[in-house]
Amino acid sequence: MRAMVLDNPARPLQLRDVPKPKPGRGQLLVRVSTCAVCRTDLHVVDGELPNPKLPLILGHQIVGRVEEIGEEANSKFAIGDRVGIPWLGWTDGECVYCRSNRENLCERARFTGYTIDGGYAEFAVADSRFCFHLPDNYNDTDVAPLLCAGLIGYRSYRKTGDAHRVGIYGFGNAAHLISQVALYQGRELFVFTRPGDKAGQEAAKKSGAKWAGGSDEMPPEKLDAAIIFASVGPLVPAALRALAKGGIIVCGGIHMSDIPSFPYDDLWGERAITSVANLTRRDGEEFLQIVPRIPVRTEVETFPLEEANTALNRFRSGELHRTAVLVVSSA
Ligand SMILES: [Zn+2]
Ligand SMILES: [Zn+2]
Repeated sequence: MRAMVLDNPARPLQLRDVPKPKPGRGQLLVRVSTCAVCRTDLHVVDGELPNPKLPLILGHQIVGRVEEIGEEANSKFAIGDRVGIPWLGWTDGECVYCRSNRENLCERARFTGYTIDGGYAEFAVADSRFCFHLPDNYNDTDVAPLLCAGLIGYRSYRKTGDAHRVGIYGFGNAAHLISQVALYQGRELFVFTRPGDKAGQEAAKKSGAKWAGGSDEMPPEKLDAAIIFASVGPLVPAALRALAKGGIIVCGGIHMSDIPSFPYDDLWGERAITSVANLTRRDGEEFLQIVPRIPVRTEVETFPLEEANTALNRFRSGELHRTAVLVVSSA
């Protein structure tokens, strides 16, 4: 099968003909239709995440159809079913985190497109227990970004509890998706872009933000919560200063540059800072039930599988204004 393979970080992916994987016990063999590109893919390619499997097939927002079912695979999938494969690929089910409904923190978790092969290829195998059915009213291209930007965004958003005034730093894919959920639930949105990014601020206002400005500005009201999707550490103390007492900052990225020190006074008043790691299957099931009701709209730009490097490079340089989706096969 054709696959885009990462041999070493900091090198472009190589188009290769590699053996088609076989579904093991509990696994599905999935013919990949589309795979969305995530910022985490960039972090892996750029060597910012430790110890990836090498060589590696990237990609953890995979949409495809079940081609073969391994022994003892979860019976909720049949041959030909459409299936979504997310970032969380496997957990041990027995560590202290798994046993307390926090499988996202599993000590031995494996991740699609990072420590196990992902979807920048014609086929992928996945543990059937971690795969999702996808809402019918989305096509294979539009549904793909929901599988990570949407899911991790949703987990970040849930951590804000019932915050009414929600700030979002970095109005990228995850922010775009989750802001639709927040507005649907009657929250007020305050969006922070790169200083001077007037186009980004206009776009945020158009999609319903009460206020949009640069990350160096203060919002007109104090926030009950702020989600930081940009991987920029100095945004944390900046967001703290915009926070009301009792507010929470949620860092939604898997990687962030160092956070500069700040006065304790800025944290005082029961302000909190947390991060979001991975996802649980429950997050996925909940989110995929909510999205068709709103409905959450994704904005995508498609690339053929062979042009994965182009998609990654344009993402890195900030030239992408929609989510890149690799189209692998047209089912
Ligand atoms: Zn575990
Ligand atoms: Zn991702």
